[in-house]
Formats: sequence, C-alpha cells, structure tokens
Amino acid sequence: MSFQPTHPIAYGRQHITEADVQAVVATLHSDYLTQGPKVGEFEEKFAAYIGAKYAVAVSNGTAALHLCALALGVQPGQRIITTPITFAASANCVRYCGGEVHFADIDPATALIDLKAVRQLLESHPEGYFQGLIPVDFAGLPVNMEEARKLADEFGLWIIEDSCHAPGGFFTDSQGREQRCGNGQFADLAIFSFHPVKHIATGEGGMITTNREDLYQELLKLRTHGITKDPAQMTRNDGGWYMEMQELGYNYRMPDMLCALGISQLSRAEEGITRRRALAARYDAAFANMPTVRPLVGAPGHAYHLYVVQVADRKGLYDYLRTKEIYAQVHYIPVHTMPYYQGLGWKLGDFPLAEEYYAHCLSIPLFPSLTDEEQEYVISCIQAFLSEAGK
Ligand SMILES: *Cc1c(COP(=O)(O)O)cnc(C)c1O
Repeated sequence: MSFQPTHPIAYGRQHITEADVQAVVATLHSDYLTQGPKVGEFEEKFAAYIGAKYAVAVSNGTAALHLCALALGVQPGQRIITTPITFAASANCVRYCGGEVHFADIDPATALIDLKAVRQLLESHPEGYFQGLIPVDFAGLPVNMEEARKLADEFGLWIIEDSCHAPGGFFTDSQGREQRCGNGQFADLAIFSFHPVKHIATGEGGMITTNREDLYQELLKLRTHGITKDPAQMTRNDGGWYMEMQELGYNYRMPDMLCALGISQLSRAEEGITRRRALAARYDAAFANMPTVRPLVGAPGHAYHLYVVQVADRKGLYDYLRTKEIYAQVHYIPVHTMPYYQGLGWKLGDFPLAEEYYAHCLSIPLFPSLTDEEQEYVISCIQAFLSEAGK
C-alpha cells in the first residue's frame, strides 16, 4: 500500500471554502451579528431547497427538536414513538417536555424505524394512547413519509421528521413523484442540523421546516422567549417600544454570521450530495466483492450522510482502522440501552433487531472532500483486516 494519510481520516468532516470564510467576514463587518438579514435569507433559500413553505433557523438541531415538541404541545402523560437507532436528541425532545418516549424496532435491511412495528405497537394499545411519531431519515435514507402519514392519520398522531441526515434526500411516492425530506407534504414538522459532520455545516445551527402556518407562527415566538412584536398578535400596544411575552419561550436563535455561512454552504449542497453518492457507489462496488462486508441498502434518493457497513468483528475492524489513522464511528448505540433510558424502564433485549444491528455496524469515511485516493486506502485497509483476520 503506497498511499499513507498525512492526517487522520474521520467518518465525516466539514468542507469550508474561501467563499464560506468571506461570507462570514462580510457579516462581521455588517451591522448585525445576530438577528440580521442573513437569517431570513437563509430560511428562504433553505425552504426553497427543501421544497417546504416555511423554515425557521434555530441554534442547533436539538433546539429544533425541542421547539417542535413544544409547538405540538407535548406534555406529561403523552406518549411519543421513535426509533432506537438515532442520536439521543430525537428522543430527548419528548423528555424535555415531560412526555414518555416509546420505541419501535428497526427494519434490519435499512436500519430505519419499521412502520410495520409501529403499526403493531399502535394496534396493541387503546385508541389515543400515543400522540406522535418521530421517524428519522437515518444515514440519509429517507423514510417513506407517505406511508408514515397514512399510519399517523389512522391513529391520530402528529409527525416530526428528523431529517438531520438527509437534506436534499428524497423518496418516490405512490404517484411516482420525488418527495424531498422535510418538504412538509407529509410530516407536520421536520428538523435539520448544521453540526460540522452534517451536509451543511455552520458549527452550531439548525432548521425547522413546515407547511403549516399555525406551527410556523408558534415556532417564531418560541424561538425568541415567547415574545411577539407583531401588533396584530398583541393584546395591547403601549407604543413603539412595546413587545409582548405571551408564553414561556427560549433563546434558540441562530446568529446572522452563521446563517451567512449556511447560505454559502447551501449553494454547494447539491454538489456535495452528488459527490457523496459517487463515493457510496464506489464503496458498493468494492464491497460487492467482499461477502463478509454487508452495507445497508441504498436508494436513488439516499442523501448519504453516513456509509454504514456491518461486519462480524466490528470492534476488531474499528480498532484496526484506528491503527491506520482511519477514525470510523458507530451510529448508533441504541437509545433505549443508554443508562438514562434504562432508568426509565427500558431493558437490553427490548429491541433485538436494533441491538443486533448495533453489534455489527460501523460508519466508514464519507464526506465530499474525501479524495478517491483516500477512499481506496480505506477500502484496502478493510480488505487487509478481513484477510488478516481470516474473516
Ligand atoms: C445531529 C443530529 C441531531 C442533533 O443536532 P445538533 O445540531 O447536534 O443538536 C438530532 N438528530 C439526529 C439524527 C442527528 O444526527
């Protein structure tokens, strides 16, 4: 193997260009550091990209989830269903509001929440027992939201689509139309994150998309302390300075300079997905010749946030790759196995398919600036491990 990496190759990383830097610098020289013109511009452009009517920029993806749960009225006594294979934040937003988190097991081929398992769960409880569903477009593979909506309507649930992994991803609906993740056609609300490993990176940042004007108005208020400055919404008006705090909100605003970075990153989003898909296709081709490496299934609308393989000796491969300067990662440790959720009564063995997936999964490097040479190196290291280990 001739190629040697000069720096560790992580499973994901941001790509910052000189144009990105200039966009931030220009904002630093402007009149606004926080709520300036870049916030609205980013929201408009993001909504257009996703195909949703409204977008609300917030401080991060977790804040986005929290605001969604608040806007949908989650409260103690309510029960919400999500997947065990996600980042804990997808579930935690329910806990912030005092609601109960329930899980449905995954489809092992995709690692997405299995809508058949959700139906079983719904059917095994009295009507009205559950209030909401939080599906996750895990790894960038879109959940079939048309089916999720049908199920949700049948049982009176709202839907928050956690699309952190899938801006620009789409599934094909029953009419043959491409439906972008978070476009608001099916889910009540969808959320995105701009954490550095995500498709669009601003350091911290998040976005909520929706087609529902009522929720949009509520989110705008909750994002900034529950305060409105809109005279049409106020109960009185003492003068030009007057604003009203009408409910308990938060400071979950995304600053102007980060929105400027987001706008600049968004302009390269399609380019990034194209590169991610090309890299994924090269991995697919390489692993087609390695029967002991089982990638998750692909799809034309896959946004490829992650490229996940499943192998017999996952820990062995993880440790071996570390010695080769390749920092793979595991997505995810099932949420219900976390000590916090075990403290709420969930047990090992509750979701066997998620636990089996966790025992074997590994996310290998996939990000737009990964070079062909680096990818070849990753593939050859995996091959070397498998032949050394005789696996
Ligand atoms: C990243 C991520 C979040 C949280 O986003 P932050 O911006 O880090 O708060 C939530 N859900 C999923 C699936 C994520 O990948």
